[in-house]
Amino acid sequence: MRETTFRVRTAEREQILLITSEVNAALAELGADDGICTIIVPHTTCAISVNEDADPDVRTDLVKALRALVPNVKFDHGEGNSDAHFLSMLIGCSLTWPYQRGKLALGRWQGVYFIELDGPRERNVRVYV
Ligand code: ZN
Repeated sequence: MRETTFRVRTAEREQILLITSEVNAALAELGADDGICTIIVPHTTCAISVNEDADPDVRTDLVKALRALVPNVKFDHGEGNSDAHFLSMLIGCSLTWPYQRGKLALGRWQGVYFIELDGPRERNVRVYV
């Protein structure tokens, strides 16, 4: 197995960034041709997913919807970021996806989302082939 890591810097507490080109660059760095990769975020208050990459309003709408998903729970965790832990767990911290000719095999409107839930921060994204 080969791996590489790239960094993502977020500017908001909750923010969705498109990282498709960074993942494809990581695949190129790894010399990947055809196969299946695993992409992880080694953190507990962010997430990774795939969704529409065309209209940026989708990403801001999804941030609004994610905020609305957090239930009215009295959290005990002293860092005050249990909402971020909760959403990270729901969305997930890894993706497994096929790639062909060195690029992710995504649908026409799909892009890879890095989902910040407790920013702004600098984060790691790891790609394994
Ligand atoms: Zn915490």
